[in-house]
Amino acid sequence: MAYHPDENRYRSMEYRRCGNSGLKLPAVSLGLWHNFGDATLVENSRALLQRAFDLGITHFDLANNYGPPPGSAERNFGRILQEDFLPWRDELIISTKAGYTMWDGPYGDWGSRKYLIASLDQSLKRMGLEYVDIFYHHRPDPETPLRETMKALDHVVRQGKALYVGLSNYPADLAGQAIAILEDLGTPCLIHQPKYSMFERQPEEGLLALLREKGVGSIAFSPLAGGQLTDRYLNGIPADSRAASGSRFLSPGQITAETLEKVRQLNALAAKRGQKLSQMALAWVLRHDDVTSVLIGASKTAQLEDAAGMLANRRFTAAECAEIDAILNN
Ligand code: NDP
Repeated sequence: MAYHPDENRYRSMEYRRCGNSGLKLPAVSLGLWHNFGDATLVENSRALLQRAFDLGITHFDLANNYGPPPGSAERNFGRILQEDFLPWRDELIISTKAGYTMWDGPYGDWGSRKYLIASLDQSLKRMGLEYVDIFYHHRPDPETPLRETMKALDHVVRQGKALYVGLSNYPADLAGQAIAILEDLGTPCLIHQPKYSMFERQPEEGLLALLREKGVGSIAFSPLAGGQLTDRYLNGIPADSRAASGSRFLSPGQITAETLEKVRQLNALAAKRGQKLSQMALAWVLRHDDVTSVLIGASKTAQLEDAAGMLANRRFTAAECAEIDAILNN
């Protein structure tokens, strides 16, 4: 049956301005790193995308290497886009990235002009798109001159293959230099995509302040620490969870007794606030006005509903913030 999005999809989602740009992003965005590759049934991926859009989640984040195998998330997303979402393309913000290993040889990785431009062309083909809304350099390249990488980003915007550009995983000092080069080239940096959650607070040490000062937006990836900042692992490791999937990014060994104790205490605080831990964890990231969006992953539509439901209670008292700090620093 043909997909028709929910008519009320713009009623409850919040849209936040991305830095000083004209673009607003939904407070919650959906990433396609997991659950969109060839190992997932396409109907599951389709259900996630449809439910997300019905909830007002207008931003889908991809990368050349998402899968597995690399490229398959873009290909599967492209198929669903063509089948279900084409009439709504102008209501969507689709991003992709290049920067990690994508193909063999010296031109399929890092940050050369050669790699970035070829990779975006491949991504557009896989997704069946003429342009992406945001193209990111996925990680810094210690060998390629920063100006060459930034010029490649500027070039794809001038070609019309990307509307905006962003940086991911750049530390504050290098991000400052890259933002200045892009400004100089006439293609401002729209957004930075750092890893940020209760368990990963590095961006608080300079990056967020820099982005605020420069008028660059930010989108926090893995805000639930891959599922650890939820009730998922409170009673063991469920068979259908990321930790049980053999992921090299979240192994059962990482979910230590110490981590679980913090999660239990955070879970109790979330319950006192009348929300789930996953919701409190997302609201906590969004407590900074200059975090534009939280970039979640989801394996089930109910997880998207949890995330959108977080918006009903986003405020923290000073006492709650102090309690969270105390739990995390324990
Ligand atoms: P999260 O921290 O949001 O983890 C998502 C996982 O948490 C889900 O797959 C699910 O795991 C679990 N989960 C989500 N909601 C709930 C809930 N309500 N209750 C219980 N469990 C829940 O983010 P990801 O690590 O998946 O990353 C999100 C996105 O960020 C990626 O898709 C990608 O777009 C981007 N990213 C970018 C990177 C970069 O270098 N720029 C690196 C990594 C990610 P389960 O499968 O167990 O159900």
